[in-house]
Amino acid sequence: MLHHERLRPPSRDYPADEWNVIEKAFNRDFVAQLETMMALGNGYLGMRGCPEEGGPNAENGTFINGFYETRPIVYGEDAYGFARTGQTICNVTDSKIIKLLVDDEPFWLPNAHLLKYDRRLNMKSGTLDREILWETPAGKQISIKSRRLISFPNRHVAAISYCVTVLNAEAFIVLSSEMAANQSSAHGDEADPRLARAFLGRALHQRTNYSKDQRIVLCHGTERSHLTLACATDHVLETSCRHLYKVVHTADFGQVAFTLEAQPGRPIQLTKYMVYHTSQTASPEELCGRAEWTLDRVVSQGFGQLLAAQEKYMADFWRRSDVQIKNIREDRVKRSIVEIQQAIRFNLFHILQASARAEETGVPAKGLTGQAYEGHYFWDTEIYVLPFLIYTSPRIARNVLWFRYKMLPHARARAKELGHRGAMFPWRTISGEEASAYYAAGTAQYHINADIMYALRKYVQATGDEPFLRDFGAEMLVETARLWADLGFYSHAKQGMFCINGVTGPDEYKTVVNNNAYTNLMARENLRYAIEVVESLQAKEPDAYNALVHKTALEPSEVKAWRRAAENMYVPYDEQLKIIPQDDNFLDRETWDFKNTPAERYPLLLFYHPLNIYRKQVVKQADVILAMFLLGDVFSLEEKKCNFDLYDPLTTGDSSLSSCVEAIIAAQVGDMDKAFRYGMAALLMDLADVGGNVKDGCHIASMGGTWMMFTYGFGGMRDHDGTLSFWPRRAPEEHAILRFPVTYRGQLLEVEVRLDNVEYVLREGERLVFRHETEAVELTRDNPVAVRPVMRR
Ligand code: BGC
Repeated sequence: MLHHERLRPPSRDYPADEWNVIEKAFNRDFVAQLETMMALGNGYLGMRGCPEEGGPNAENGTFINGFYETRPIVYGEDAYGFARTGQTICNVTDSKIIKLLVDDEPFWLPNAHLLKYDRRLNMKSGTLDREILWETPAGKQISIKSRRLISFPNRHVAAISYCVTVLNAEAFIVLSSEMAANQSSAHGDEADPRLARAFLGRALHQRTNYSKDQRIVLCHGTERSHLTLACATDHVLETSCRHLYKVVHTADFGQVAFTLEAQPGRPIQLTKYMVYHTSQTASPEELCGRAEWTLDRVVSQGFGQLLAAQEKYMADFWRRSDVQIKNIREDRVKRSIVEIQQAIRFNLFHILQASARAEETGVPAKGLTGQAYEGHYFWDTEIYVLPFLIYTSPRIARNVLWFRYKMLPHARARAKELGHRGAMFPWRTISGEEASAYYAAGTAQYHINADIMYALRKYVQATGDEPFLRDFGAEMLVETARLWADLGFYSHAKQGMFCINGVTGPDEYKTVVNNNAYTNLMARENLRYAIEVVESLQAKEPDAYNALVHKTALEPSEVKAWRRAAENMYVPYDEQLKIIPQDDNFLDRETWDFKNTPAERYPLLLFYHPLNIYRKQVVKQADVILAMFLLGDVFSLEEKKCNFDLYDPLTTGDSSLSSCVEAIIAAQVGDMDKAFRYGMAALLMDLADVGGNVKDGCHIASMGGTWMMFTYGFGGMRDHDGTLSFWPRRAPEEHAILRFPVTYRGQLLEVEVRLDNVEYVLREGERLVFRHETEAVELTRDNPVAVRPVMRR
């Protein structure tokens, strides 16, 4: 169901462009939204798209993935096993400020008379570029050209090139380059659980601060999470105008102020280098030293080299990841090709920004674009983001999965705390400990364990990374399989079938239910995969098997128990309706009164008590529909159709994780009208602010879902049985052409879906065999194979 199609169309101020998100006029009403959209990041460091001049800001934010502070979670009414420690990503030192004063008057965007304003998120070069022509009240014309980047190849580094030229007069100029720590954090809103809890007091505590010439180092630590941060800046000023500079630094503030006598037409070029290092173990001195070494290197290389490296990185990314669309019937989707292409790239670019250098951390639900959801990692990563990474940047996918592996000790401890065997991954976390304060929609989402194993399998199948499976994956499989075997039981009431009670599925509008179908289906996959991997190791790699037994104390009888549980897994089914009830009681519930629910009262979670929601048939996000996508080979087309017809009208899409999945299943069951509408909502979730909350950060899961929509949905990609195949439906529109690359087992395949045929080209690698529909296709390098006719399915 689509209630609110707030699809803001492009306008003169925000013209569409295939490679850039462009802002042509400064508009106070959109400051918050553009801060998110124009945020830069590399998965380690992120900065919201605030102007250099220190404002105006809505929620200024600089974030380091995994740099968080904790607080005790206080419950009005406590109970055993509740999560104890809240974790919130910190808003760290803001180093990007460069204030500009002309003849003592500050340049302040809202008041300035602008002869030209052009800001763009440049997705080709990975930079935020701005060109301004400002006329002061005295008639002086000031050109300001800036370019900001957060480096992908150098994950600790950001830089700004800031060039000021007074065009028609002499002027006194001040460029005050500043750093500010402990600025206000995002204000939490008790009424909206999706936002971050505000910190009371300061998150960053002074460790040391010092300067050397035009270099300033500020070092802070957190009190309870015991993390240390060194933020350092350095400057290079190039100009023929006379100038002086002064340096100030205190615990929370650093400033290098350049005063200049500007001459007409002579550029003043300031390059600011910003470096962040963080650690749990290194001393402040050590960390400051690291920051300085990094600065030494990048300052000597210069901005040009950083930019060239960034552009190279981006070119490589797009070669492996760009999804292109042509010839779409614009009247049908009410958007131009350029807008669609822009939105696709915007989504993919932000996924990269959220994950590229997320080494030893996860991918936060909002990436590093905002503090909402507190910088936490959810199942979003494995189910929505990893497929894209697995098939385009498998190295990043591996890092993310490895990070989950590093959480295993916490997951084991959590299982024990809850009286379970095996390991239980947290629903939301940064440190590895459960941080979800509402167990019913948090800890109860046991499915996250199976979700992680689902992603593991996809990763191993697509990359052939057996060593990862052997050394890390197998252990996670044993522990999660143990969890399911322990959690479920053979129920008399269900003819001795294996049932899993008291869990919450993806639909958070039903909590603590019995036999959530999604959970049971995914748990079954988890068990089966664990059996397969353990048995294969036992047969083929006895040393690895023995090591696994040693690490996990695995008993042969356990594998038998897993098999029995998988074979007898109960999956609710209604013979009469020919549908899968979402859980044991779903069909007993009264239907939500959709007719009398006005559009302004969505998302329901902000307007109705949970009890009112829980007792009704109303679904927050794709649940059974998601299972039909993830486990597409388990369901016939007819079953998909029946279930979609039942669940779609009940699904509010109050979570942004829903539309993309609905679009895929709508396309599969042939409801192209819905497929387009959901598809556009997912595609434009952030760029057109569909949910009305882009100000709080990008919806990274939906962005990943958008990629799945094009590749799996319209491109017909399938990988259920371990081999890659394509069953392209109609391309998104009758005459459209859809082209996308897929990295499979180290080879780069390009797929182009047209109305009457599909062309496959092997761009990298020597030989690749996959399936088109039911036929094997063998490709050799640069020898395209066109296959027709496309069989509709
Ligand atoms: C969704 C969850 C999701 C979380 C973070 C919630 O609104 O219901 O499925 O993991 O947002 O994106």
